[in-house]
Amino acid sequence: MDKLLTLTVLRRISQLFFFVILVYGSLFMTTFYSEDKLTGALPSLSCAYDQDGGDYCVLIPLQHQMDHRVAGVIDGTSSAMAGLMGTAITLATFFILIVVLNKAFCGWTCPLGFFQEVISMIGTKLKIKQVNSLSFEVVKKTRVIKWFIFIFFIFIFPVLTGLGFLGHEFGDAFCRICPSRILTTLAVGDASQIVVDNASAGYMTFSIFADLLFGLMIALALFIKQPFCRICPMLPMQAVFKKFGLLRLVKNGSSKCDTCSSCVSACPMDIYEIQAPVVNQNITFTDCTLCGKCVEFCPHDDIMAFKFAPMPVFSSSKPYFKKRVKIDKWWKK
Ligand code: SF4
Ligand code: SF4
Repeated sequence: MDKLLTLTVLRRISQLFFFVILVYGSLFMTTFYSEDKLTGALPSLSCAYDQDGGDYCVLIPLQHQMDHRVAGVIDGTSSAMAGLMGTAITLATFFILIVVLNKAFCGWTCPLGFFQEVISMIGTKLKIKQVNSLSFEVVKKTRVIKWFIFIFFIFIFPVLTGLGFLGHEFGDAFCRICPSRILTTLAVGDASQIVVDNASAGYMTFSIFADLLFGLMIALALFIKQPFCRICPMLPMQAVFKKFGLLRLVKNGSSKCDTCSSCVSACPMDIYEIQAPVVNQNITFTDCTLCGKCVEFCPHDDIMAFKFAPMPVFSSSKPYFKKRVKIDKWWKK
């Protein structure tokens, strides 16, 4: 049993558990939760369009507050207190969650992150040639996209909608294109979010783009790891608060990193920076999902580690590395 128990196995159990809670949770939780959800500010992409879901992501209330509240403060139709209170509560809830689990919400709880990993496993089993890592140049260029989506789709477009400069469909611009909206509603048997919306030219354009993005994500996930995560606006949202997170990925100073790149090859987000031979440093980068694969695949004792505050939770080691490589080879056969 111990031979098969790995960090990745624990993570899969966590992902499956949260998939059930986040996609179907209100079916077996109380009426109170089905109405109010668990937090209403989750740091992973769980969708409010899924009526059966147990919680929804922070990006939904943020967009609505920009559109319906913050715009009112800007044009003077609402007081600062009334306009900003909702946003303050949403951000405070998000902050508390990030302090506890930090970016592990991505690697351990997100339904969309889990779905992409399942597609990747199917691709491997179908013997589709896998792209192990994207080049640093491609990674660098791709990283900019999530910031563009974060700034424009979550803040600027909704505020401009509230001020009357853009059509209503821009009020929740990111939700209009989010693949989690399609995934989680389909998972509860609701196909209404995948149909082309012909309410207006704007809604139609958004819905066609969303369907194409969802299809493209599935096709790419068959041979590239976490294609949507690379442009997901949740990463910048988490990054703003991540230095307060108690759970961190660190490089220890107890032994010397020889920059063998094994950690980078294992990293599903192609974070090349983790191979730098730094000591005693927090290396939880913006794109990190705290999946732990780099720690699992570091071949040296105690160089990489997950820490909760100063306490080590899981550290790299030679014996674990050997076991992990063996399991990986068996899985890829
Ligand atoms: S980066 Fe990936 S895992 Fe994190 S919220 Fe976005 S889709 Fe989910
Ligand atoms: S840096 Fe490590 S923990 Fe972060 S995404 Fe890459 S492999 Fe996962």
